[in-house]
Amino acid sequence: MNPPADHPTWCDRDRCDRFRTHVSPVVHVDTNRTEETVMDVALIKPWTPVTDPQVSLTVTAGPTVDQVVMSLGQARALAYRLRELLAAAGEGPR
Ligand SMILES: [Zn+2]
Repeated sequence: MNPPADHPTWCDRDRCDRFRTHVSPVVHVDTNRTEETVMDVALIKPWTPVTDPQVSLTVTAGPTVDQVVMSLGQARALAYRLRELLAAAGEGPR
């Protein structure tokens, strides 16, 4: 498949060419503390024009790497549920 002529504004062109899918720069879920897992999130979108963007969550725990790809709707619901859980734990917005 040839690279597309147009890319989303969030697309990292170097990574797009390498992975043959639109992909945003990786955002590290950084707490400024040592954590047992390392988490990264990014937007991805296959080069097919009719596909919506998705959110990729990559979790690294020691030698194990797992990736979860979710729809934008699932990502929105997850963000909402995480806010609820943080509020229940007494952790407000910072
Ligand atoms: Zn792209």
